[in-house]
Amino acid sequence: MEVIVIFLFGLLIGSFLNVVIYRLPRGQSMLYPPSTCPNCGQRLKPQHLIPILSYLYLKGRCAYCGGMISFKYPLVELITAFIFSLVYLKFGLTTIALKYLLFFIFLIPLFFIDLENYLLPDKLTYPLFLTGVIINLITQELSWKSLIFGVITGFGLLLLLALIFRGGMGGGDIKLAAGLGAFLGFPLILETLFLAFFFGGITGIILLLTKKKARGDMVPFGPFLIGAAFITVFWGEKIIKWYLKIFFL
Ligand SMILES: [Zn+2]
Repeated sequence: MEVIVIFLFGLLIGSFLNVVIYRLPRGQSMLYPPSTCPNCGQRLKPQHLIPILSYLYLKGRCAYCGGMISFKYPLVELITAFIFSLVYLKFGLTTIALKYLLFFIFLIPLFFIDLENYLLPDKLTYPLFLTGVIINLITQELSWKSLIFGVITGFGLLLLLALIFRGGMGGGDIKLAAGLGAFLGFPLILETLFLAFFFGGITGIILLLTKKKARGDMVPFGPFLIGAAFITVFWGEKIIKWYLKIFFL
């Protein structure tokens, strides 16, 4: 039963994250004015803002102008609800669960903003890092060593790569990696970076082969870091065990 409540709570938070994803890159306030249709500017009524249901009822169109509403809105709501449910199923109702809920409340908008705008705003990456450090004081999930080495590894490795391959890695990626290090600690941050480069590399090759992108075209790296962090939170330890079994036993 509880998981249904968590899922519904996730839908509501996802609805707010949609506002962040839309407004933050445009430099608009998160709280004011109330939601409007991006097409016609009409202020939306509460019955138009019910997660998922409004989208289905309105068949993906604005109630005023009939303009198409992006499928991204219900998608973000569903992804948030799905991740919240996973956090609950893995960590129960604990402070550790709270830690990972906060983690993904930052990561979900960062994922979509970087995908669309090639941008990881400081307004999200700095609080991500600070929240990671503070929440660890409360949960004590990571040792101090793990936290500090996690941050140094995330920040340092990406900074190094940015210096070697000038222009490839952005400052936002470096700050994001420091935040991931603060939440995941060492050694899980290493696994996250490894997975991010692995999937990033495969995707890059596919995009080149299918001629969707040319050499030197920009591909945002943030979504790969965030996708890898998601895998690491839920299956990181399993993957390490599996990896060690294959290669070292
Ligand atoms: Zn409209």
